[in-house]
Amino acid sequence: MTKAGGTVAGREVEHQMDQRTAPVGERQWHALAAEDALVSLSGDRRGLRDDEAVRRLAEHGPNKLPEGKRRGPLMRLLGQLNNLLIYILIVAALVTALMGHWIDTIVIFAVVVANTVIGFIQEGKAEEALEAIRHMLSPRAAVLRNGVRKTIPGEELVPGDIVLLEAGDRVPADLRLIETRGVRIEEAALTGESVPVEKTIAPVEENALLGDRSSMAFSGTMVTSGSARGLVVATGAGTEIGRISGMLADIGTMTTPLLRQMDIFARYLSGVIVVLALGILAFGYFVRDYPFSEIFVAVVGLTVAAIPEGLPAILTVTLAIGVQGMARRHAVVRKLPAIETLGSVSVICSDKTGTLTRNEMLVASLSVAGDAFALGGTGYAPEGRLTREDVDVDPGHHPAIRELAQAAMLCNDASLSWNDATWAVEGDPMEGALVAAAAKLGLDPDAEREAWQRIDAIPFDSQHRFMATLHRDGEGRQRIFVKGAPERIIEMCGRERTADGGEEAIDAEGWRDRIDEIAGRGQRVLAIAAREESEGADALVFDEVGRGLILLGLVGMIDPPREEAIAAVAECRSAGIKVKMITGDHALTAAAIARQLGLENPGDVITGRDIDGYDQETLRERALHASVFARTSPEHKLRLVEALQAQGLVVAMTGDGVNDAPALKRADIGIAMGRKGSEAAKEAAEMVLLDDNFASLEAAVKAGRTVYDNLRKAVAFLLPINGGESMSLIAALLIGLTLPISPVQILWVNMVSSVVLAMSLAFEPAEPDVMKRPPRRPDERILNAFLVWRIVFVSILFLAGIFGAFYWALEGGNDVETARTMAVNALVVMEIFYLFAVRYLDNPSITLKGVLGTPAVLIVVGAVTALQFLFTYAPLMHFFFDTRPLTLVQGLQVVAIGVAVLIALEIEKMVRSLLAARRASLSSAREGPREA
Ligand code: ADP
Ligand code: MG
Repeated sequence: MTKAGGTVAGREVEHQMDQRTAPVGERQWHALAAEDALVSLSGDRRGLRDDEAVRRLAEHGPNKLPEGKRRGPLMRLLGQLNNLLIYILIVAALVTALMGHWIDTIVIFAVVVANTVIGFIQEGKAEEALEAIRHMLSPRAAVLRNGVRKTIPGEELVPGDIVLLEAGDRVPADLRLIETRGVRIEEAALTGESVPVEKTIAPVEENALLGDRSSMAFSGTMVTSGSARGLVVATGAGTEIGRISGMLADIGTMTTPLLRQMDIFARYLSGVIVVLALGILAFGYFVRDYPFSEIFVAVVGLTVAAIPEGLPAILTVTLAIGVQGMARRHAVVRKLPAIETLGSVSVICSDKTGTLTRNEMLVASLSVAGDAFALGGTGYAPEGRLTREDVDVDPGHHPAIRELAQAAMLCNDASLSWNDATWAVEGDPMEGALVAAAAKLGLDPDAEREAWQRIDAIPFDSQHRFMATLHRDGEGRQRIFVKGAPERIIEMCGRERTADGGEEAIDAEGWRDRIDEIAGRGQRVLAIAAREESEGADALVFDEVGRGLILLGLVGMIDPPREEAIAAVAECRSAGIKVKMITGDHALTAAAIARQLGLENPGDVITGRDIDGYDQETLRERALHASVFARTSPEHKLRLVEALQAQGLVVAMTGDGVNDAPALKRADIGIAMGRKGSEAAKEAAEMVLLDDNFASLEAAVKAGRTVYDNLRKAVAFLLPINGGESMSLIAALLIGLTLPISPVQILWVNMVSSVVLAMSLAFEPAEPDVMKRPPRRPDERILNAFLVWRIVFVSILFLAGIFGAFYWALEGGNDVETARTMAVNALVVMEIFYLFAVRYLDNPSITLKGVLGTPAVLIVVGAVTALQFLFTYAPLMHFFFDTRPLTLVQGLQVVAIGVAVLIALEIEKMVRSLLAARRASLSSAREGPREA
């Protein structure tokens, strides 16, 4: 405390005291010197101790904004009542009550209740799926605790923590900056100003406006460049953004273009049906002379039969189940429409390092002037032998190698730690591999870092492709170490280190040959350089780093492709999806990895420089053929996306850095990396891959296709049922026949059996050929010619089945009630059989797998069958629905009708596939042979 008073020379102590007693959120941190801010939160530059952080977390609470109020269960339940069909039913209930048809009134009310409850459950399921996802993307923050860099959930930040900020981060709490390196922050979230502002540590005037408080980084704003360290001064609701909004933004509602399209379609259809129903009401009453009470109830039944009320809910649930399934496979959808787009993706542009490869780097080769060595070992363990032509070598005898390793280890932000019985990296895996290599050569990382303190650094950036650090030892000597892409470093170096520790003019040509040779083996190559720096300088100047640099040597690293990525690439190819690999690595390294991955034309590499040289026209053609893009920077990604889109392709693009954001936004599906991705990339993306793995991306595409299939199946299932039922009623009313199914029975079938059966389609797994067909055309409508045909065809089958059952029973001398019970049961049995048919839109469904189905299908079929037995045999049901028990023979007749429908459908499938095959062979004969 006295120290605080001491350092604040010339300021009133009283004022300080004021500040100390004010609640944390009220202090004028921006006007305080950085040092004073640290002291007054009793923190220091090494960060809090863990136990202190725990204590403060208990005191201040978690660093999160209060969540927006959700609609309570009651409101959600009432919300279910707000739809056209329910209005019609309520009117119908009132009218039937007025007419004294109490049984109908009760049934209609029961149906309203059942429908509301089912809708409520479905919506709950959808909300649950979204809720689970919301929590998967909660941000993390890099902090110093006990002097060690650590990544923690943003919610665990407490006042006094030291936060490390980098380009692409979203500031996790209000920070008083204590160290800045060219940091710019975009504060639009807070001030509305979208031009990034430069931040420094100098205090500003006490009454400065928020936008002028350049010594602060505010929660919710975005770091666009540079890096900084800041002291947490306010968290959660105490932050500036917390005070303004006080609420967490919602992830958005559960809707997509397709759902909206179907919603509009359903509403439009409902309108048409209501008009039609009124027409039939008039026709039946005036022309056919039905008594009003009878025709009214029949028309209500017709309306209910025709309106696809279950459809929007089923589609929403299908989507929600899809989202949930993808999240389980590590692909989190941030924007729901992405699910639909995923199914039509025709080209995936993927980062190489860490997505297609494992990003578990291992230094395999070291090259210095006139000598090359191999280094053994596995993982990040500091054990491995140095060999030359398979003979062990003592690193102690090769000072040039030791110097190379020392530089690689010091120009480095990673550290290794021993936990859970393995060596793990905190930081960039490539840098971790360099630390491990140095340890293998007998260097002690901690001792080296202690001996050569780092004073300044220029961080790696895929734009300039090197990293530089400035160090000083105990005697005041200073050295600069640089590591980076070899061509770049060689350009910067005038001289090279000789084997005896001297230096001579660089043999750039010789080095380039060696680079090509190492890269050709698929290794990632890094060049390392150093120089002495005159004493006293305490900052690196970007343009002067290259002056007088001496090349120390090359490091070659292996980063093998992920096994599962190889399989995923193969599956993409069979699914007609092109895979393009994008990397900052050397062309030859990239080509070697592409070959191992099984990409198309792996030898055809386009470099960033090539792209710069191409006009958009050339790029379009070249981008289509080549699948390897090397030495690219983020802006090349944007041009690539545009070139591919111009060819009519639907592009998925991965990215992680802040500079990737424009390409991610532009792509049809931007995909950010969950682990190494920046917050900026995640926010620009439609989807986040939690495990950074290409195989998860491919699985997401597959899931996208499956979800779309299931949406189509739900449509293909429900619409013909509505069609068949309403056609039966209309036919009967127009011709003046007895209704084969009574209106309340229609209510039963529609609101209970159909909805329950359709639910199972949301859980339907992928069809076996889902990744064997080409991508869906993005402009294809869900109600395509096939589906319309299907709906008409099946409606007619249903119409025939309903009347067939009805008259079959009447012919057999049964009364109308029994015949109607037959018709209803036949309808439900047809639905069940049709459900099995619809599960495979194009493939035959009479296979063992098809019949056994999935648990979801078996459960709903079991449930609906049980309900149908109740409906047929329970006395209560006889009372409400006027049903009659059926005999065994009648039961078998009902099943026979279902089987007949299934056979008709299978024949239709066969005919269609024969026709399709004929058409295909005709068109291929016309166009001549084409490559597959
Ligand atoms: P990728 O897209 O495959 O991840 P990067 O753009 O990260 O490629 O890296 C491109 C090249 O820059 C690498 O081949 C390597 O030579 C160099 N490089 C990568 N990371 C670092 C780093 N942390 N420090 C210095 N150089 C690096
Ligand atoms: Mg990288």
